[in-house]
Amino acid sequence: MKVINEILAFNSEFVARDGGAPFRTNQFPDKKLVVLTCMDTRLTELLPQAMAIRNGDVKLLKNAGAIVSHPFGSVMRSILVAVYELGAEEIAVVGHHGCGMAGLSCSRIIDKAKNRGVSTKVFDTLSHSGIDLRAWLAGFDTPETGVRQSVHTIRNHPLLPPDLPVHGMMIDPDTGKLELLMDGYAEDSK
Ligand SMILES: [Zn+2]
Repeated sequence: MKVINEILAFNSEFVARDGGAPFRTNQFPDKKLVVLTCMDTRLTELLPQAMAIRNGDVKLLKNAGAIVSHPFGSVMRSILVAVYELGAEEIAVVGHHGCGMAGLSCSRIIDKAKNRGVSTKVFDTLSHSGIDLRAWLAGFDTPETGVRQSVHTIRNHPLLPPDLPVHGMMIDPDTGKLELLMDGYAEDSK
């Protein structure tokens, strides 16, 4: 049975017993916090539980590596919407040890794409169009560096209120232990 079919079958039963009832809330984050973290599967349930985050508490953004690739990309837009429209008053970037985006190999991804049927010509065309895949498909040297880069991009965004605290944190994907790398309340982080 395909996963999506299993999900749909489960869902009919879930809705029939009103499984959504304990989760009902509104769109405003009660803790007035935005959390940007990694899509790593180990964090799916662990991170909310380790941070005491329940439905309705925070705006949770996820991508590979908790990276803000571009100051005018979708992550930054989501943060701005959370701050100006939804009442978020602080931001936490939460990276994790053992992140797959550390030392990500662009050439390995390109090789795999070619093996899956993407024509070699496509890469020539992209290159001739001025698209730098190596810069775009990049991770970071260490997860800590990644967190610092994301915090830096958010903190220095020209559209963000200058006094908004932006924290940098690391989480252990086994124990859930949190570590504060950059305290957004500290003066030198501004
Ligand atoms: Zn990760």
